Amino acid sequence: SPSLPPTEEMRQQRDHKLGYSLSVSYHRPLTVLRGSGSYLYDDRGRRFLDTVNNVAHVGHEHPRVVEAIQRQAAVLNTNSRYLHPTILELADELTNLLPDELSVVHFVNSGSEANELALRMAEAVTGTRRVLAMEMGYHGNTTRTIDVSSYKFGRRGGAGRPAETVLLPLPDQLRRRHLQPDWDTNDDAPRTFIAESILSCGGQLMLPPGYLDSVFKRVRAHGGITIADEVQTGLGRVGSHWWAFELQGVVPDIVTIGKPFGNGHPLAAVVCTTRVAEAFANGMEYFNTFGGNPVSCAAGLAVLTTLREEGLKQRAAEVGGYLTGLLNQLRANYPLIAEVRGAGLFLGFELTGKDLAPATAPASYLKNRMRELGFLMSTDGPHENVIKIKPPLCFTRAQAERLVDFLDRVLREDKMQIR
Ligand code: PMP
Repeated sequence: SPSLPPTEEMRQQRDHKLGYSLSVSYHRPLTVLRGSGSYLYDDRGRRFLDTVNNVAHVGHEHPRVVEAIQRQAAVLNTNSRYLHPTILELADELTNLLPDELSVVHFVNSGSEANELALRMAEAVTGTRRVLAMEMGYHGNTTRTIDVSSYKFGRRGGAGRPAETVLLPLPDQLRRRHLQPDWDTNDDAPRTFIAESILSCGGQLMLPPGYLDSVFKRVRAHGGITIADEVQTGLGRVGSHWWAFELQGVVPDIVTIGKPFGNGHPLAAVVCTTRVAEAFANGMEYFNTFGGNPVSCAAGLAVLTTLREEGLKQRAAEVGGYLTGLLNQLRANYPLIAEVRGAGLFLGFELTGKDLAPATAPASYLKNRMRELGFLMSTDGPHENVIKIKPPLCFTRAQAERLVDFLDRVLREDKMQIR
């Protein structure tokens, strides 16, 4: 567009007009103006393959979702204190994808709101704010969710671990550390356990088999409640199942769903058992002005319909399995890649040097170099040395091949050599 300010000018304006704690991706930031399928397009019309965006779940600007939002926005958008068929239909379709026990839906607008509400619900049952969470976990931007997010309280600018939060160390199967969930028996009081079932900020870490079962049993034995944060992992991304907690063969008391649910439109949910819903309904109303509005629900319904009609869960399994194979071939050629892990299209590979020392600088170089070549990738993990791959589920085999070809090219570059 001719009226568009140049990148550097926008960046400067953003630096003082928007919140000072908001960062921007890449050393050379991108101006992104359009999206379609697995691609984003910049201000010069340049195309980038997006391997990061787990929000554009069924594809950027999927026509079915766009049309559903447009159609409903033209007819009615208001709060959920009136009867409306769409909210009921969405609650039905969502609970159909979950175990029978998880039957009551509360609609909200973000993952943070969902986890905030889930923590309040758990407190209504347990009578305590004590929480067990994973090291490097992230569950949201509200005060209470930050209190259980060591990714925030335990790092720069954070106030440290609150007394009521107990942390489980990251189970690191590569280094064979902390493979059993272990916490101080003095802490065996009723408490809420909250975790993702594949640890995203922890660096796309798969939990060892039986890990969640073991935590759930002990937490429940002491009257506790379990929350599965499926904000990143949910809705078919892991391929073999609709939810990552199913990989561990457990059923949580509460599930939180966000990012992918509205394909970019703000829509999130807390789904719980009738026992939890009853304890929470103590007389104080939970009202949420935007939560469950007809436009958001139309977006959610379109997402669930698209997932079903395009067989995207199956596709996550197929293309994710194929991509994992290709990445493992790369690993065989480059000792820098210590491990490829994940499930479906929720993958990561860890870069390490001698004695499995985290290779942080090469990971950062790789991410920025891939962006120059037209691929959006992100890093994560306690040492930012894990490359995360979580593209829209419409990702194709051909795109997986192209991605790996270019990774191969960058891995051969001088800057990627460990000395
Ligand atoms: N839980 C997890 C696992 C997340 O990744 C995020 C967002 N990165 C949230 C919760 C918070 O979601 P939101 O940004 O929509 O509030």
